[in-house]
Amino acid sequence: MTATARLIDSHAPQFASGCTSRPILRERGQREVFCGLTGIVWLHRKIQDAFFLIVGSRTCAHLMQSAAGVMIFAEPRFGTAIIGERDLAGLADANDELDKVVTRLLDRRPDIRTVFLVGSCPSEVIKLDLSRAAQRLSRQFAERKVRILNYSGSGIETTFTQGEDACLAALVPEMPQETSADTSLLVVGTLPDVVEDQFARLFSELGLETVGFLPARRSTALPVVGPGARYLLAQPFLGNTARALEERGATRIAAPFPFGDEGTTLWLKAAADAFGVDDFHFRTVTAPARERAKRALQHYRETLSGKRIFFFPDSQLEPPLARFLSRECGMELTEVGTPYLHKQHLADELALLPETITLSEGQDVEKQLDRCRETKPDLVVCGLGLANPLEAEGLRTKWAIELVFSPIHGYEQAGDLAELFARPLRRTDRLEV
Ligand code: SF4
Repeated sequence: MTATARLIDSHAPQFASGCTSRPILRERGQREVFCGLTGIVWLHRKIQDAFFLIVGSRTCAHLMQSAAGVMIFAEPRFGTAIIGERDLAGLADANDELDKVVTRLLDRRPDIRTVFLVGSCPSEVIKLDLSRAAQRLSRQFAERKVRILNYSGSGIETTFTQGEDACLAALVPEMPQETSADTSLLVVGTLPDVVEDQFARLFSELGLETVGFLPARRSTALPVVGPGARYLLAQPFLGNTARALEERGATRIAAPFPFGDEGTTLWLKAAADAFGVDDFHFRTVTAPARERAKRALQHYRETLSGKRIFFFPDSQLEPPLARFLSRECGMELTEVGTPYLHKQHLADELALLPETITLSEGQDVEKQLDRCRETKPDLVVCGLGLANPLEAEGLRTKWAIELVFSPIHGYEQAGDLAELFARPLRRTDRLEV
């Protein structure tokens, strides 16, 4: 029996087989998504001694400034090395330019311990080999104990959360090898510090002693990995990171994702079972936080219950969020679109989704817009590019990117997560009064 089957709450609607075997509508066409550079916004907040150097164009720099908003006024830990016309025309050696930029940066910022060279569409188009550049610069700055890594944040065939996946996958080879035969738990996926602290406390109360988080707050304090490591994904978009961890011997603990009371309980329970935590002890430790989450959600059920929601593919968080909104908030799901569907990582989520929904992967935006208009949902979750036109047509929207920027994991954030969906519905109700 899986953790999913054991802990289904009595208050939630239940679905015998879920949609594990149902057909998935796969579409390939024009897409409306942000690129992987966007991940730098939350990654740079989390890894506090890292600098993200985008090797890109002015467009990339503008995207980052708009996405990061007010933070450009603070001492930044991200920037763009602009590939100029001379680089594009092959008149300048882009590698020389890059070396100069990194040297200037590290002279000015001795606090930086890791520099990520982040590839973009322009750097990929001119075939700038950032992996070789990172190796060369790592050797150059080895004495200063600065690590230079690289990953791609380009918008060619990616969606915006893949930037985090690529960044964490680049960190995996740098993780120290475990030295003891003991098993350890590794929580994988960027969590705001406050959420990480809450989970760390719960794991500690459950009796789990060795718990690491990837990414860690400091790039020099990466958790250990090896055959004794069991990892728990906190985000559903980390396929490459998961593969890299498995290559180092770690084993995945299958679970739904920690959104809402139910998702968080099943996620924690999966870890607790993997480490042999007694069921009664588990219930005792989690009961107060579960109660708080249930009370917080109660407040939003009146606004959300019975409302129909349509998800455009954007963040890859769509299936777990749909599960949360359906089972804990009483919302009616119409179409749940996601850019990529990792069947293994999402198996426990898919089993909890109702049979009646359309589950779609990829995008052909015009066709999907037609389906959305036909469905006439109460709320549409979509990217920024689609939100304004849909609002102009009278549909209420929620920006998918806000869900990635906000702390939404865990018991204490369950109410805040529901609030993110309730706000646009209440806003329209108020306008209509
Ligand atoms: S990486 Fe590509 S998609 Fe992203 S901002 Fe730069 S040019 Fe645009």
